[in-house]
Amino acid sequence: MHDLTCCVQHPAVSHEGFSSLAVPTYRASTIVYDDPQSFAKRSERGLDGYTYGLHGTPTTRTLEAQLTALHRGVRTMLVPSGQAAVAVTMLAVLLPGQKVLIPDTAYPPVRRLCEDYLAPRGIGHAVYDPLIGEGIADLIDAQTRLVWMESPGSGTMEVQDVPAIARAARARGVLTGCDNTWAGPLLFKPLTHGVDFAVEALTKYVGGHSDLLLGSITVNDLALRKSIKDVLRMVGIGVSPDEAALALRGIETMGVRMTHTGRVARQFAERLQNSPVVSRVLHPALASCTGHHLWARDFAGSSAVFSIVVKPEFKERLYPAMAGLNVFAIGASWGGTRSLIAPMSIAGDRTVRPWDASETLVRISVGLEEPAELWADLERFLAAITAN
Ligand SMILES: *Cc1c(COP(=O)(O)O)cnc(C)c1O
Repeated sequence: MHDLTCCVQHPAVSHEGFSSLAVPTYRASTIVYDDPQSFAKRSERGLDGYTYGLHGTPTTRTLEAQLTALHRGVRTMLVPSGQAAVAVTMLAVLLPGQKVLIPDTAYPPVRRLCEDYLAPRGIGHAVYDPLIGEGIADLIDAQTRLVWMESPGSGTMEVQDVPAIARAARARGVLTGCDNTWAGPLLFKPLTHGVDFAVEALTKYVGGHSDLLLGSITVNDLALRKSIKDVLRMVGIGVSPDEAALALRGIETMGVRMTHTGRVARQFAERLQNSPVVSRVLHPALASCTGHHLWARDFAGSSAVFSIVVKPEFKERLYPAMAGLNVFAIGASWGGTRSLIAPMSIAGDRTVRPWDASETLVRISVGLEEPAELWADLERFLAAITAN
């Protein structure tokens, strides 16, 4: 073989005796075929076959299968981010003239998607009270095609009655989707509560190391799977096997990470209730949190993300005190090994359950640092707020 040909053809080596616990990273744009007949008939391989790198590799399919199993679903589709998972689901379900219902507490970019992208294209939306429960039935009209949920709510942590909303929607032939990022599949499995689309930002707990962006959509109906796959194919969305490989590594330690950080977060949430700086602590595991009884009924445990509401009189002191933290980092995309803190502006994103703009919400995500050191950092922060 000529050297130039030799450079581009990788020799086949034996795999015999090689058995690794790690999932290989299979990179591919093109998939090659044994003969022209197989190539010509490649569409017959179906949605589970391999036809083109964009539509899946053994690496991405392994992660999809793992998420399907955790969610007790039938198929999972990976997409490039959590936001893409929400958007692709809505694009797969909604046609012009139809409508989606979203909770007031939805991840803010979802409200923006409805207002600034779907609305100009003739797809309507209405915002509902996340505590509506089976009362959602009264908001479902002839145009309603999808009810979106996110439980607990972004920042403010209201827990929704997901089974009641799913039941009411299904009784009227309306599909439901749930953004399950706070809980992940270990703490809550939306499909087992009657939801049609379980959506995750894998960027958070599955990735677990603040170094990847990925989302997933899990369904338990092959027709819904096809509707999602159609959008991905037509819009040209696929994910990198490198991102999937990072997520496959992250998911192996998700159980111990979530158990530990969930326990520490809960302890911190309880202690912070006694701080003179804090008017309320918002963590679903606290009895005072809105919807706590639903969390206790439906969720398997506590996640590491919660919020504190800082009393209005300390508003001016908050930023300087936060800048003085040295174990917590300031940032938004939680679920990694590092503890994060961030001030959140909520008021502009609440229309049904208005938020008092004088109340500042601070979101805390507990990571894997020594808990005593984290707590000391928080105590310093609280002391700096009240110092004269
Ligand atoms: C982070 C997050 C998303 C978006 O995930 P990205 O991967 O950052 O796009 C969606 N929903 C919730 C609840 C989130 O916390």
